Amino acid sequence: MTIDNHAACYAAFQSKDSRFDGHFFVGVTSTGIYCRPVCRARLPRPENCTFFKTAAEAERAGFRPCLLCRPELAPGCAPMVPATRLRTCSAVPQTGTVCAPVDASHRLAVLAAKQLEEHCGSIESLEELAASLGCTARHLRRVFREEYRVSPVEYLQTCRLLLAKSLLTDTGLSVLEAAMASGFGSLRRFNALFQARYHLSPTSLRRQTGGAVKQEGQGISLFLGYRPPYGWDRLLAFLALRAIPGVEAVRENAYYRTVRLVKRDGAEVCGWIKAENMPGQNALRVTVSASLLAVLPQTLARVKELFDLSCDPNRICETLQTMDALKPGLCAPGVRVPGCFDPFEMAVRTILGQQITVKGATTLAGRIARELGTPIRTEVNGLTHLFPTAQDICGLEEPVSARLGPLGMIAARSNTISALAGKLSDGSIRLAAGADPERTAAQLMEIPGIGAWTAHYMVMRALGWTDAFLETDYGIKKALAPRKGKEILALAESWRPWRSYAMMNLWNSL
Ligand SMILES: [Zn+2]
Repeated sequence: MTIDNHAACYAAFQSKDSRFDGHFFVGVTSTGIYCRPVCRARLPRPENCTFFKTAAEAERAGFRPCLLCRPELAPGCAPMVPATRLRTCSAVPQTGTVCAPVDASHRLAVLAAKQLEEHCGSIESLEELAASLGCTARHLRRVFREEYRVSPVEYLQTCRLLLAKSLLTDTGLSVLEAAMASGFGSLRRFNALFQARYHLSPTSLRRQTGGAVKQEGQGISLFLGYRPPYGWDRLLAFLALRAIPGVEAVRENAYYRTVRLVKRDGAEVCGWIKAENMPGQNALRVTVSASLLAVLPQTLARVKELFDLSCDPNRICETLQTMDALKPGLCAPGVRVPGCFDPFEMAVRTILGQQITVKGATTLAGRIARELGTPIRTEVNGLTHLFPTAQDICGLEEPVSARLGPLGMIAARSNTISALAGKLSDGSIRLAAGADPERTAAQLMEIPGIGAWTAHYMVMRALGWTDAFLETDYGIKKALAPRKGKEILALAESWRPWRSYAMMNLWNSL
């Protein structure tokens, strides 16, 4: 369905269908307000509805966000083009691979939107963003407008305004604190833009919505939406089994972890987060320590990746429902692929897990955090350390094996971690969303001790790769027995571009 199909969009809006949440927004000309398709307010007449692809586009057309359905809570959208077909094109000069221009432009626009959202607190110029994506500002402006029908700057402004609106509604932060945390450099500019776009001042929004009571030491809580169904229990169990003692904790149906992020000026910001499921609201409630307000958009972006919040479960099920023919119920509608908050930490955790049990690797990871990480004081029981960064490992005076050996690690594994830390800290491998999955996996496999399984697993979790497939995995082979190698691969072809989700289903079936 495209948003140009008025009748189809109206039908989706009429049925309050959560499958379309985040895929389009509805501007209501009789009220001047724009809504999510799931809004419970009285249904406007079709002739009063205009449909927009993004909140930014609705705002540019002069609509104000609904206070009831809160467009800022709509889940994000994953790229529409299967990741395996994505290749960087001539707009990104460092690779020679050529692809269909539509795919390349789409990918570039989606990446730019992701960057704008994640760094809305610190992006200074479009030129700088374009350079980081390997193209010119002019090219970026053009592809961005084609994809989202707004300019990157308009998109950025909406990201900031909606984050501020969220903070004013759900937290006890002052207007000034909310403005700064959402990336506005000055209170005056924030007030002016907010008033111009939303036809009310930040203080009157706060009065209308009430905000929350500020509690010292408790952090501030926000909501991040997802499309139901959401298999929270499975995902939390996955994270619980792998939670690094001192760095992460899972208890009382919530996930906790310590956080270290780097601000634009290079300064480190540390704190903790908590995430819990709010099934009635189709959202996660995310609590962040007050210290993380300086990097709030970045923190929220990482949480979205860790919990796979842009996932579109219905689209995935359309492809994977054939799995039910193998075993009834194999295609779980709410399945999610765990991403990661800190790629280096996840990668080390993966290397540690080679040839030992998940529990054994968890214990070892906890020892590394305690020995080489940084102690941190938090208000959360059990969160005591920041996991070491790649730079921390590279900066050690003695060989890594001399520090990790006494913790129970064999020298070969220590050397692999050391080599990985080197490649990540000098930038020769970029283990982050937006990098090319196949190319990154190939780069990782050049490191001694990292085989195909490890590389593809890391890429799946760090890049949000939807189409990873580990055909040599013991669990996958077991779940698909008696099929063997080539048969398994052939079967998995029909699960593209969602083979990562198919693997989660297979693992969960054991
Ligand atoms: Zn609404």
